Amino acid sequence: MPEAMPKSEMTFRGIPVSGGICRGKILLQHRTRPAISERQLTDLELVEEVHRLEKVLAQTRQQIIEVQHRVSVAMGATEGGIFDAHLMVLEDRTLMDEVVRLIQGQKVNAEHAFHTVAERYAATLAAVEDDYLRERATDMRDVTERVLNNLMGLDAEVDLRHLNEPCIIISHDLTPSHTAQLDRHKVLGFATDVGSKTSHTAIMARSLRIPAVVGLKDVSSHLENGQYALLDGYKGIIVVNPTDQTLREYDETIRRHATLEEKLGDLLQKPAITLDGHRVTLLANIEEAADSSQVKASGAEGVGLFRTEYLFINAERLPGEEAQYQAYREAARTLKPLPVVIRTLDLGGDKFIAHLPVPREMNPFLGWRAIRLCLQERDIFREHLRAILRASAEGNVKMMFPMISGLEELNQANALVEEYKAELRKENVPFDERMEIGAMIEIPSAVMVADSLAKRLKFFSIGTNDLIQYSLAVDRMNEKIAHLYEPTHPAIVRLIKTTVDAAHNHGIRVSICGEMAGDPVLVPLLLGLGVDELSAAPSLVPQVKFVVRRLKLSEAKALADFALTCESAAGILNRCQKLTREIAPGLFEEK
Ligand code: PEP
Ligand code: MG
Repeated sequence: MPEAMPKSEMTFRGIPVSGGICRGKILLQHRTRPAISERQLTDLELVEEVHRLEKVLAQTRQQIIEVQHRVSVAMGATEGGIFDAHLMVLEDRTLMDEVVRLIQGQKVNAEHAFHTVAERYAATLAAVEDDYLRERATDMRDVTERVLNNLMGLDAEVDLRHLNEPCIIISHDLTPSHTAQLDRHKVLGFATDVGSKTSHTAIMARSLRIPAVVGLKDVSSHLENGQYALLDGYKGIIVVNPTDQTLREYDETIRRHATLEEKLGDLLQKPAITLDGHRVTLLANIEEAADSSQVKASGAEGVGLFRTEYLFINAERLPGEEAQYQAYREAARTLKPLPVVIRTLDLGGDKFIAHLPVPREMNPFLGWRAIRLCLQERDIFREHLRAILRASAEGNVKMMFPMISGLEELNQANALVEEYKAELRKENVPFDERMEIGAMIEIPSAVMVADSLAKRLKFFSIGTNDLIQYSLAVDRMNEKIAHLYEPTHPAIVRLIKTTVDAAHNHGIRVSICGEMAGDPVLVPLLLGLGVDELSAAPSLVPQVKFVVRRLKLSEAKALADFALTCESAAGILNRCQKLTREIAPGLFEEK
């Protein structure tokens, strides 16, 4: 129960991104550190600046020793030993002397000098071919972060992997890699100032089944550690210091959701078939092999999107062919004979790894990402493709390439697959000679040349998350323009239809694996447009099935016909909502 402190109920509204209701104490993650600015100092200020740096280095050292002690007690000496490397960075006299020289020589502030020198060291280390030295780059960046926070008077970041008690995390932002690290047993829910429904952080929350609200603007600056709050991930609300009345109302809401979950649970073993007998394939999206067991439990018939990049994010080192093979094989074996569509690495955009320094880009989503990165980083791509090919011998594995913008990239990627198949044959390593290869259709140019692509592929999977951001020029991460991110925009409806027609003209299947596929309101529209398969987060599969089983394909087609002639996104959305509320009122009354 909330502690006795002066309190009045406060409600904050944001974007609901992961269903569920939780209550608990707030744990505030520090705000994103502001950019490091360069400040010119007078001669008089220089001595004091060096003194300030030295004090902060001593403070940082003390903090690291304390963390090391806590980790050693909780997890053992080996884990604690990891922090020795951090202490060594702080004790590196060459580095520190260089920082001091920069402060004195260029008469600049300590933050700027430390950041400049440490970043140069880290970049040099990261570029070295040696695994050990490359890891030192990560240590260097961790320590730099701590020193800069201390210099700027900001709180140190909480280690989200090792929390002491259950809590609701409130943060300005959480990166996908932070979210992937969240301790599922301790994090009751999370809320962020920024973000939107299709940011990878939101996708990860759904996958982890952690209730989450994003796009709360500046909530993190209004709240305090330890305040009691209620987070409603269905409606996108946080209530701080909820009154007894609010808590009682929510008890009722929680009961209603539990009843709905039970009702949806009854559908698990039932097929996704419309009232007029049209069979739909329902698949699930996963981020790691361990999620495969959830797939069957959700009632899905396989995996429509395995986001392989999470194997790389937060890994101690770049996973090689063998480590990747083990992971893909685990998914293939667990789900056999059900299909597992493994998407090749989609790094870049908002997903980065320490072991592969990606240059800072003005527009990372338009930059060195996914297939573009893989076609240049041949060693990484080779190990990746070989691992997927090898796993194909162990189950029903299919593979697809992300971010294909035209035929040239597809041809290059296909040629590499052939090259690695030849290698494996020579080595007598088994793989499925007939493994199906598909492509994600998520760039408008790919839709325009879908005919050419379809001739060379076995399936398309439409990535609506990116297709919408690239077609409407609306950053999928930016809450300020979230209202412009419209899945029912007439352009999007027509792009999907064009893709479906191109695929069907060439006799190949089309699936949707973007977040549209998990939105029960939009499912009838997608099916009416002719989409064959839907792939959504496991937690969303039951409600998609619920809608499919109450729908007639004829109604869905009439809806799609309307949408293809309607000129307004709101008009299309209204009709989608009207139909879904008519056929599946239970789903909405309880929400
Ligand atoms: C998409 O873009 O719709 C998609 C499924 O891929 P991701 O969300 O990983 O970019
Ligand atoms: Mg995408």
